[in-house]
Amino acid sequence: MYKIGNIYFIAAIAVIGGGLFGFDISSMSAVISTQPYLCQFNQQGFNEKGQCMGPTDDVQGGITAAMPGGSWLGALISGIVSDTFGRKKSIQMGSLVWIIGSIIVCASVNIPMLVVGRIINGFSVGICSAQVPVYISELAPPSKRGRLVGFQQWAITWGILIMFFICYGSSFLDGNAAFRLPWGLQAVPAALLLLGLCFLPESPRWLAKNDRWEEAKEVLTLVHGHGDPNSLWVHREIDEIREVVEFERANADVSYFELFTPKMLNRTSIGVFTQIWSQLTGMNVMMYYITYVFTMAGLAEGGGNAVLLPSGIQFVINVVMTVPALLWMDRWGRRPTLLVGAFFMCLWLCINAGLFAAYSRPARHGEFTSTAESMSITGAPAKAIIASTYLFVASFAPTWGPVSWTYPPELYPLRLRGKAVALCTSANWAFNFALAYFVPPAFATITWRTYVLFATFCAAMFLHVFFMFPETANKPLEEVEEIFDDSKPGSVKYIGTPAWKTRNTRNLVLRQERNEIPMSEEKAGYQEHKETVNP
Ligand code: BGC
Repeated sequence: MYKIGNIYFIAAIAVIGGGLFGFDISSMSAVISTQPYLCQFNQQGFNEKGQCMGPTDDVQGGITAAMPGGSWLGALISGIVSDTFGRKKSIQMGSLVWIIGSIIVCASVNIPMLVVGRIINGFSVGICSAQVPVYISELAPPSKRGRLVGFQQWAITWGILIMFFICYGSSFLDGNAAFRLPWGLQAVPAALLLLGLCFLPESPRWLAKNDRWEEAKEVLTLVHGHGDPNSLWVHREIDEIREVVEFERANADVSYFELFTPKMLNRTSIGVFTQIWSQLTGMNVMMYYITYVFTMAGLAEGGGNAVLLPSGIQFVINVVMTVPALLWMDRWGRRPTLLVGAFFMCLWLCINAGLFAAYSRPARHGEFTSTAESMSITGAPAKAIIASTYLFVASFAPTWGPVSWTYPPELYPLRLRGKAVALCTSANWAFNFALAYFVPPAFATITWRTYVLFATFCAAMFLHVFFMFPETANKPLEEVEEIFDDSKPGSVKYIGTPAWKTRNTRNLVLRQERNEIPMSEEKAGYQEHKETVNP
């Protein structure tokens, strides 16, 4: 069958999986207050005006959380699926599962059916969100890897935005179409992903690991060699992959538990923390609960859906501000991007905490609908809160958003990559799930201190990144291995180098990819270096 070799096309199709992730995040937001939804899933009877009151708070919490819960499980098992059946097939399975889940959700007539459908949808997102970055990073040339995997984050932001506005628009429809339409429409991109993947090649690294060397070489020739199997870069890659595969076969045990052995634990914790910190930035406070923050800042005063438009603006900012990362993240490198992001997010969170602490008053009983809307702030300080909230989103979008997907797959050796990234992504979902629950009671009880809590996390992640996270940008995946493991033959360049001294070697890799450096010269260079370091 015809296979696409253009890496941008490949990434564009694969990241539709990220779009499903975005749908997952915003699929409930604009629906849960509509009468058709509240009447279809009514548990509480009717209010004085004769309107349906819908499910109880706890049950609604369960319905919402069913998806991140399913995603956690899907991400966790995705490593085994992807190592067994291949990266591409595992993403295809994910999209098929999404279609089944969407049909159930769209046709739901009662709460159990809705919950089951959402768990199934979540399960699919778990598989795709973990394995799309693995697939792309194993296919991408090192100089574009950050950008290409970063497309996953861009697709997430588009997914959130599109679903939010589809749900918002559908909320004006009469009858059950208000919720059935968006939930049914979400199956369409998954069908495109399922079909589109048929025309994409499998990961050459997965093929090699399964001794399918001819096919691996064909893929490398198609994607990196412009059709020329004798290109230097293709030779160099196949040699490096072979060296690593052979070394791994001879020296390593290949079970899941290897991730927790002393040799791997450092990497496992860095990858898992990349995802945990990305959640603890507080970004999802803005994604899920922005309407609470803006209601406290007086934006709901117009009544009705007045708060939804300013909320929508932050989703647009999220999409637009991811673009700089796609353009320049490989130049910036991973470390500076994470450090700058943590610094600015900490700043905006401190400003919000300070403004609420100094200028707000406690909300009066019955003033707002949710107990999480515990403060009220007006005038210039309220405007400053809105601005600083937007600036926070604009700081996450080009930094922790994309890098949290690019960085983990770069950290692990081939034999463990699928499983390790699965573990990291499941940490994302576990914290996502927990924060969705924790944030409303936090606002209700510790009010503005909630911001202090997230600001403290941002300060902690700044220090963690500075001292522990090595630079991986522009290094072939096999070379990243050498930063952590100097027992591999030829790994002399990084012995004893602390994380803050690792550098972005962009110029070298660009010349290698353009075949400007003959391999013999490159090897001689390494040899010389080895002799100086290790006489
Ligand atoms: C995070 C999500 C978040 C989204 C916002 C992703 O990287 O994992 O939890 O909602 O970014 O754009």
